[in-house]
Amino acid sequence: MDEVRHSIALVAHDNKKVELLRWAEFNRGTLAAHSLWATGTTGTMLEFELGLPVNRLLSGPVGGDQQIGAKIAEGLIDMLIFFWDPLEAQPHDPDVKALLRLAAVWNVPMACNVTTADMMISSPMMREDYAASRPVIGARAWDGGEPA
Ligand code: PGA
Repeated sequence: MDEVRHSIALVAHDNKKVELLRWAEFNRGTLAAHSLWATGTTGTMLEFELGLPVNRLLSGPVGGDQQIGAKIAEGLIDMLIFFWDPLEAQPHDPDVKALLRLAAVWNVPMACNVTTADMMISSPMMREDYAASRPVIGARAWDGGEPA
């Protein structure tokens, strides 16, 4: 069976970046088969450590979390690995909350710690074209075409 290519977003707060990098190194072989997205600093570190291309967005505190949230809303992200820091307040806490909220709204699998990330990445469903149900919400949205 051909591997299914997923879009995986990775974000880690500063005190969690080493944890995420170690996890990503351990899972490098699996991650290499997918399209990787990340907030700015996390993405730079991942590219350096893994030697894999990462679609880097803005740094989290200046809009990167919101960019990932927007991509989730647009259906462009299949999985979120978000090691947020439960022991330190973040200046962009509203954005953190919004990202967690949108992943929940759109039924996107989300891992906030190493154990959950291990279980998600090793799931047999990763290799299937698992059709996660997306809720049908609201009116027709702009489809990315020419703006009115
Ligand atoms: P960063 O952002 O990867 O740019 O550090 C992460 C975050 O704080 O949300």
